[in-house]
Amino acid sequence: MSLIDVIDLQSAQLHDEARRAMEVCNACRYCEGFCAVFPAMELRRDFTNGDLDYLANLCHNCQGCFHSCQYAPPHPFGINVPKALAELRYQTYRDYAWPPSMARVFDRNGTLVCLLAALSVAVLVTCIVLLRDPGILFQPQTGPGAFYRIMPWGLLSALAGASFVYSLVALGMGFRNFWRASERPTSDLTRPRPLMQALHDVFTLKYLGGNGRGCNDLSDNFTMLRRRLHHAMFYGFLLCFASTSVATLYDHFWNWPAPYPLLSAPVLLGLVGGLGLIVGCSGLIWVKVQTDPAPSARALLGADYALLTLLLLSSVTGLVLLTLRETSAMGLLLAVHFGFILALFLALPYSKFVHGIYRSGALLRYALEREDEHASHASN
Ligand code: SF4
Ligand code: SF4
Repeated sequence: MSLIDVIDLQSAQLHDEARRAMEVCNACRYCEGFCAVFPAMELRRDFTNGDLDYLANLCHNCQGCFHSCQYAPPHPFGINVPKALAELRYQTYRDYAWPPSMARVFDRNGTLVCLLAALSVAVLVTCIVLLRDPGILFQPQTGPGAFYRIMPWGLLSALAGASFVYSLVALGMGFRNFWRASERPTSDLTRPRPLMQALHDVFTLKYLGGNGRGCNDLSDNFTMLRRRLHHAMFYGFLLCFASTSVATLYDHFWNWPAPYPLLSAPVLLGLVGGLGLIVGCSGLIWVKVQTDPAPSARALLGADYALLTLLLLSSVTGLVLLTLRETSAMGLLLAVHFGFILALFLALPYSKFVHGIYRSGALLRYALEREDEHASHASN
């Protein structure tokens, strides 16, 4: 049996199990107020593979329906919705990856991330040694342009620009594949109300609030912990991205090269964002270690840990670089930090990061379906 046949068989089995769970849930409907998955499920009698992929990405793994389910193991039905949807969700990352040949790296996500990080740091150190005097790595550099005296501006911009553009294209193509796979036609995607609703749900992480009582993050007790940590990570990431964007504007349009003073927009944004990432990522790693394993998908854990660790290392090295940037450690720290950032950009389309992209698409589809449903009720 070829690798493609094995992947197809695995995908078919995961769709079958998710379909079985959804059919039982559609008859039961006890959990219909828990999250967006159940109302979306109730709009369907049959579940195509595209429908199931959409529902899997609409689930945010709060585990609430597992702890409330009278058909969960040891009941003979053995219904475990969070696990079935999480395993299928991970399969969608493989199925919609671009280019398709990269699907297999989701099977060894931790290895990919470690290799990329080590390789990126090694390439940068080699470039510095070849393009500059090797001793410059250990000499203190200060004032505007200090970073570029160690790492040439052209090299830095070329690597950052190329990896960023590649990531954007791969993520965009993955989103397009995911969106097209859903076989339920949706009218006009540009309607403002559903779009605003979806943006609101994404930016407030609405469903992680579990209707105000939180989720079953660690056990059958409700808590807001995962939502708060997720907020810290999400907004930390956005602030770090804003910091890099502002620094690029300063450099290109005002001819003001890095490093910047402590009380400047790029440094303040990066500082707050980096701290948010450290709190969010380390907290989420702790939650994953502590959580009840029964409703979790073991296959996803490697990818979870890989992305969280890479984000954590990127932010920790960024803050250490900020602290020691006027010392002789700056050269090596710059290579290590930029190496992690480069690895992060390259790994984004093949990491758990795609969860944010597909989940946003699923929330938009949900908002569109809800509006269609209201419109059809109003016209009847
Ligand atoms: S998870 Fe269990 S209790 Fe909830 S709707 Fe499905 S079958 Fe019913
Ligand atoms: S795990 Fe949570 S989000 Fe997923 S289907 Fe169950 S209740 Fe909904």
